[in-house]
Amino acid sequence: MDSAAVRARMVQKLAAMGIGSVAVLRAMGQVERHRFVDTALVNQAYEDTSLPIGLGQTISKPNVVARMAELLLDSPLGHAGPLGRVLEIGTGCGYQAAVLAVLAREVYSIERLRGLHDKARANLRPFRLPNVHLLFGDGMVGYAKGAPYAGIIAAAGGEAIPQAWLDQLAVGGRLVAPMVTPGGQQALVVVDKTAKGLQQQLLEAVHFVPLKSGIA
Ligand code: SAH
Repeated sequence: MDSAAVRARMVQKLAAMGIGSVAVLRAMGQVERHRFVDTALVNQAYEDTSLPIGLGQTISKPNVVARMAELLLDSPLGHAGPLGRVLEIGTGCGYQAAVLAVLAREVYSIERLRGLHDKARANLRPFRLPNVHLLFGDGMVGYAKGAPYAGIIAAAGGEAIPQAWLDQLAVGGRLVAPMVTPGGQQALVVVDKTAKGLQQQLLEAVHFVPLKSGIA
């Protein structure tokens, strides 16, 4: 597959859909998404669709990965220069972690399903990304050892934002996560930690797999 050309077309579409960050578009053009999906799905790897990655989980649509990355960078710490440490909850197949690795100095990514944690490790090995740290555990409690984080991004949505994530966010940092709203739908939530406290924005509707506690 001439994947560079197909990715370039995907990037054009992402720009047309409203992704404006040059850094994010460059990262999306760089990371080979087809290496993160099963052989049978390779032909769909650059379509704007979520795809199954096993154990009932899915890799998010490119547009959603790009949108969340763009939101993450659009914070005081993100504007101050290259993003420092980022925490991702829900490694899945490792694709988003690879995209974040281009945008942040260090990426800590937690997965609660052993099978996917192992899969992500295997998928990411050929990319040799020394700044990606894969962790097996319950991301509901975050990862205190890497805190404070300039950014926290969740790929699974719960009823509320766990307090641990807010505690582990740096002042000037931003959290981007799907959350179930009172109406029962999922929406993207952005929380900024400022010197004066937390500021929350509720954005567009999204469809993520559920955030679950414990490991399996
Ligand atoms: N970013 C991933 C998307 C994976 S889907 C990718 O690029 O492929 C979301 C993932 O979140 C699933 O693998 C699911 O197992 C995981 N997840 C759900 N609840 C979790 C939790 N409490 N801690 C860690 N991972 C969790």
